Amino acid sequence: MQSRQQRHVGSEDFPVVIVGAGFAGIGMAIRLKQEGIQSFKIFEAGSEVGGTWRDNTYPGCACDVPSHMYSYSFELWPEWPQSYSRQPDILRYLKHCVERYGLEEHIQLNTRVIDFQFEEDTGLWHVTTEAGDKHEARAVVAGLGPLNKPSFPNIPGRDTFQGPSFHSSEWKHDVELAGQRVAVIGTGASAIQIVPAIAPKVKHLNVFQRTPPWVVPRHSKIYPSWFKAMFRNMPPLQRLFRWFLYAFLELRAFGFVVTPKVMELASRLGQRNARKAIKDPELLRKVTPNYTMGCKRVLVSDDYFPALARDNVSVTDTGIQEIRENSILCNDGTEHPVDVLIYATGFNVYDILGPITVTGRDKKDLRTTWEDGQSSYYGIHAAGFPNFFLLVGPNTGLGHHSLVFMMEVQMNHIVRCIQHMRKHQLKWLDVTESAQDAFVRRTQERMQKTVWIQGGCQSWYLDDKGRNFSLWPGFTMEYWLQLRHFQPLHFETQTL
Ligand code: NAP
Repeated sequence: MQSRQQRHVGSEDFPVVIVGAGFAGIGMAIRLKQEGIQSFKIFEAGSEVGGTWRDNTYPGCACDVPSHMYSYSFELWPEWPQSYSRQPDILRYLKHCVERYGLEEHIQLNTRVIDFQFEEDTGLWHVTTEAGDKHEARAVVAGLGPLNKPSFPNIPGRDTFQGPSFHSSEWKHDVELAGQRVAVIGTGASAIQIVPAIAPKVKHLNVFQRTPPWVVPRHSKIYPSWFKAMFRNMPPLQRLFRWFLYAFLELRAFGFVVTPKVMELASRLGQRNARKAIKDPELLRKVTPNYTMGCKRVLVSDDYFPALARDNVSVTDTGIQEIRENSILCNDGTEHPVDVLIYATGFNVYDILGPITVTGRDKKDLRTTWEDGQSSYYGIHAAGFPNFFLLVGPNTGLGHHSLVFMMEVQMNHIVRCIQHMRKHQLKWLDVTESAQDAFVRRTQERMQKTVWIQGGCQSWYLDDKGRNFSLWPGFTMEYWLQLRHFQPLHFETQTL
């Protein structure tokens, strides 16, 4: 008779819990299935799959990474309707993946996991949901997503506003914007998509800008039906196109991580983009950044500047002093009347775990461990938390390329870890402190040369001590190369 420990390491029965059915969780589930691992469950807090592409439904919501690269390499999709697809198309793609790979039976919706406890004797994770259900897993994969905890600005009087107000990621579609005086706070990636989409219908749109973003042309193309048919009938051509996009995007890393001076050249493209649409010198001054391009996320749009140039749109950059019942008071004493208030103010990216508690070996708590910096090994492992894998964890975000590529490298590494555990009948596998420290040291040293540290701006990429634990300071190719082989010497293991 098998013991409880052995039961969970057999080739058929290696229980894995995946948290989150967004791009990361769905991709991980597909990779497990492809490797013959069927014993996994996906717990999803929402009532539908899709993650950020389910939550963000604001007008104009689209992806600023080309779709043929912002998709899984193992599920190419000839049907992308345009080069930069919109939110409904991306959500449709993810639902197609769930159906195609038969993931429905593995997904449990409306299930929020709140607690993970590691039991060292058995090497199992005890997983508890908000409803109190308990599950056991040999491995946990957290595909929680960094951009799902809305951040609201700490502006006095925020609660006194009387009209409708909401965050960009919690769009209230029942609020009528036509004929209203609308305020959008923020000028990040979400805002620059919202502004052109709502400007034509509102009475007046006031964009409250704290820092102007660099915005380069998008040149989005609608793909004609022959183009889609070509990819449908000749998949190698589509693969080739993906490789072209990969190389094109990868070249951009030079400016971000090798020599930020390159960004000075690229910024001319941004300046030309603004000058082409905006003739008013005062507005042009307002929207021209004074920091190196790339220090904050470079935004991609053809219609943002033309929208700002409209008669019914204004940009206010004098700083918000207070939000009042029906207005916003600025630092220069001007009061702007507002009927509807939209917060396009981003996300709490450093709060990776949200309300989830993760307790590893020796009762180590992950949140407390990360209080002095989000140390990890390639953003996937945290020492002291065996068989607990993160997708899009610390230092794996990108400024220049598709995050889906990074996710796939991580999924493949996790698959290798699981194969290693199965092959060697391991109870658990934990990254060593020394391997993790070396990774953190190398990453932070390299970070010092990047535009995110050198660029002279304040961004959400940095933590409260000015360190960048959110982005990968290199080429995506390097991340892939470094994780191509499983390194047994970087791990402490325990056999059954
Ligand atoms: P964001 O980039 O963090 O932008 C937040 C905006 O709110 C910034 O302009 C910020 O100004 C402003 N803000 C924050 N607090 C403020 C305050 N107290 N007063 C005035 N302004 C304030 O957020 P986001 O636009 O939602 O985008 C977040 C991330 O989501 C992006 O960087 C990207 O990774 C992702 N995203 C991607 C796409 C895509 O197409 N792939 C689309 C949307 C979002 P400061 O700049 O001065 O801080």
